[in-house]
Amino acid sequence: MRHVAIIGSGPAGYYCAEALQKELGDEVHVDIIDRLPVPYGLIRFGVAPDHQSIKAVSRRYEKTALSDNVRFVGNVTVGRDISIAELMELYDAVILATGAPNDRVLEVPGSDLPGVIGSAAFVGWYNGHPDFTDLDPPLDAEAAVVIGNGNVALDVARILSKTRTEFQGSDIVGHALDALEKSAIRTIHVLGRRGPHQIAMTPKELGELGHLEDAAPRVDPADFPPEVDDALLEPGMRKSVTHLREFAGAAAKRKRIDFDFFAMPVAVEGNGRVERVIVERTRLTEDLRSVGTGETYAIECGLVVSCIGYKTPPIEGVPYEHGRGRFANSDGMIADGLYCVGWARRGPTGTIGTNRPDGFEVAEKIASKYRGGASGKFGRAGLDTLLDGRGVDIVTFRDWQKIEAQEIKRARDGSPREKFTHIEELLGARSPEKD
Ligand code: NAP
Repeated sequence: MRHVAIIGSGPAGYYCAEALQKELGDEVHVDIIDRLPVPYGLIRFGVAPDHQSIKAVSRRYEKTALSDNVRFVGNVTVGRDISIAELMELYDAVILATGAPNDRVLEVPGSDLPGVIGSAAFVGWYNGHPDFTDLDPPLDAEAAVVIGNGNVALDVARILSKTRTEFQGSDIVGHALDALEKSAIRTIHVLGRRGPHQIAMTPKELGELGHLEDAAPRVDPADFPPEVDDALLEPGMRKSVTHLREFAGAAAKRKRIDFDFFAMPVAVEGNGRVERVIVERTRLTEDLRSVGTGETYAIECGLVVSCIGYKTPPIEGVPYEHGRGRFANSDGMIADGLYCVGWARRGPTGTIGTNRPDGFEVAEKIASKYRGGASGKFGRAGLDTLLDGRGVDIVTFRDWQKIEAQEIKRARDGSPREKFTHIEELLGARSPEKD
């Protein structure tokens, strides 16, 4: 028997567990450890609540989680309840699948003003992440600025634009739904520091903006290169740019999603809270980087959501690549017995499915090293003794199923669940009062 610990129960963690099972069968025990009392990481807290079909992938992870040799150990913080060194003592291999939950910081003067929010926090707020339940983003001004031209910027712009009815069938949490319904925001400026041919938005997600009930996207045709140049783009990008071009003819609605291209935020200003963003117009260099032109303008707004990418949180003693915001690794290997997968390995790029081959590759490495031999490690028995001794209240997959049943039971009409948004509520839902 071999013992493997995976830290993080998001897509990368579960794909890797599935791959280890395929590779090592009954020869392996996998413990998936998460600091939260609920599994699925990005699927629960990152994927937009109105994209339920993407979230459905968790059913696949559930299958892995329910098998005899995989265990979920929730509510355990590595670095506080147990160290990496201790885990490496207990397990043959430790795999970091911790994702990239920290925001890249917007480094402009004034970005620390109240009302400037990173996408991890904003997305976490509407998805019921316990860290961001009490965020209370200011939605009282007429305009908001969303910085970035990736899919997260699109998610944020769409969520800010939708009506209550359009959230039917989603699992957006009640506190966000109520706040968004009362929102005064009418214009959402999406700022891209480069042009329409340099966006990082995928066609399906961009296309959705053309079908909103109460909001219409708007672009300035003058920002686009000649249409013949679109032929040079790869097919996905070409589709995205076609959607953008079509937005030029969209009929106006009560709300507006304004795409400002060649627009780089250089400062945030306001008296005690954000009141405006100062934007510098840019141009592209030969190698397609953006440089400022010196010309600036101001956008009055009460909320800024910066969607400029994410970072993996460093862990003490684990080598880290600061520039790329991920663990220093060679094809997933950090050190002997220590590996990483998913965004913790590659940085925050790619779709959920990209994590699958990634997890399989690391699992193959581990399997070829450990197949056949016996382990001298204590594995899960050792973990339980240690955590028990430290009074850590672990959450099992059975517990999670009880929590999930409670969330389903209290769902709004048409919604798949109403998430609990505080740790204590989640822990309490393991043993619900009889009703
Ligand atoms: P992303 O795709 O890397 O986009 C980040 C954006 O931020 C880029 O437009 C980038 O511009 C811009 N940016 C970076 N630094 C900036 C700065 N200092 N000032 C202004 N703009 C700046 O990241 P993401 O949107 O966070 O998405 C992360 C990953 O999750 C992506 O792979 C994405 O496709 C995926 N995702 C997928 C979905 C979906 O499939 N439905 C939904 C959400 C996320 P430059 O290009 O100029 O650097």
